[in-house]
Amino acid sequence: MTTHNEFSRCVAQYDPHALPVSAAQAITRQWAKPVTAVERVALRDALDRVLAADIVSPIDVPSHDNSAMDGYAFNGAALPGGAPFVELAVVGKALAGHPFAGPVGAAQCVRVMTGACVPEGCDTVVPQELVERSADSASIRFAADAVRAGANRRLAGEDLARGHVALHAGRVIRASDLGLLASLGIGEINVRRRLRVAFFSTGDELRSLGEPLDAGAVYDSNRYTLFAMLRRLNVEALDLGVIRDEPAALEAALRSAAESADVVLTSGGVSVGEADFTRQLLRTFGDVAFWSLAMRPGRPLAFGRVWSGERPGLGLPALFFGLPGNPVAVMVTFYQIVREVLLLMAGAAPQPLPLIHAASLQPIRKRAGRTEFQRGIACQAANGQWQVTPTGSQSSGVLSSMSEANCFIVLGHEEGDIGEGERVSIMLFHGLI
Ligand code: AMP
Ligand code: MG
Repeated sequence: MTTHNEFSRCVAQYDPHALPVSAAQAITRQWAKPVTAVERVALRDALDRVLAADIVSPIDVPSHDNSAMDGYAFNGAALPGGAPFVELAVVGKALAGHPFAGPVGAAQCVRVMTGACVPEGCDTVVPQELVERSADSASIRFAADAVRAGANRRLAGEDLARGHVALHAGRVIRASDLGLLASLGIGEINVRRRLRVAFFSTGDELRSLGEPLDAGAVYDSNRYTLFAMLRRLNVEALDLGVIRDEPAALEAALRSAAESADVVLTSGGVSVGEADFTRQLLRTFGDVAFWSLAMRPGRPLAFGRVWSGERPGLGLPALFFGLPGNPVAVMVTFYQIVREVLLLMAGAAPQPLPLIHAASLQPIRKRAGRTEFQRGIACQAANGQWQVTPTGSQSSGVLSSMSEANCFIVLGHEEGDIGEGERVSIMLFHGLI
């Protein structure tokens, strides 16, 4: 078991007030231990689940050599060297599911439909469009250079070979995989149990939907954003509601969250003034690795571990992310820091999110020494080049900027001001948000 010291020591070489994003990602990744429990699920329930073990193909797919075209199957050795035409006698017919059983001689062929087994002794299919049929359909004739030996035949096992790994453990099952598994005759698979993520909002100013908005109050939007982002990752999301800014209430909520979940996400209450309070509280029954990032939005972000018991080491542990309260910062920190950890803990093998180069259509102010994730609207110009414009307000409270945008403009830690037309990196929302 890891000790309190080990947890805090992982940031020792950095300034804990301004941890670079890449360092924060490396630290959080290191604490992401995958869930081990496995469940068996029917194929239709397997979409977006994480495969627990390699799937080894029990059969060849396709199981037989078969025709890729409607046409005529024959032995490619019959293709003459030199002669301009080939003439073959049609000795039978094979449809998908209805093979031709008899022998096929050298000057003979069999009428085949797409998916039909290529008959014994045949290895080549000439498409029907390329042949001339005799009046009684008893023979065909085609140009000798119309096909090469072996053409238009799908080989047994060319899709999936028996004994080979068809899908690797850690794969998040998608639509094609359901079909692929079905093609192997597999109706149930072992997946990791779903990750359990508890989340709640903190703030005396927050009102739940249906409550009146009194002066100075705001509706709690973060729980809805978080719910949706968690839903996309197919984790089990436990909504613990709004918790008031009171140490006792916060402690009780965190401990009960640790009892029931693998990961606890909170929003609000980690910025200046409240930060010390959260940290202090966490120290009594958890560990804090860092609480502030060189990132915008998302500077106040606490990461650590909470325990359901009274002290670190007592009861059940859960990883803890104290996200900022500002609605845009919640989304940015979720996608840039939390998402990968959740995928790793769910047992998946996430790939880095792809970045695309784009020309900025406007100058962008940027201070070196922090990573920024501005909201942008990107499109592809006629020449295929990507172009991006920042959305108007980049305030971390303006959630409409996220709805308006279709990408993050990712401005690296070392980067300074960006001039008009200069190249920036963008991360498209498509497939992510
Ligand atoms: P805090 O980090 O608690 O200081 O909150 C920063 C800002 O985000 C404040 O303006 C809060 O009112 C706002 N905020 C915090 N939590 C939420 C929430 N759940 N929904 C909407 N706004 C919030
Ligand atoms: Mg607050």
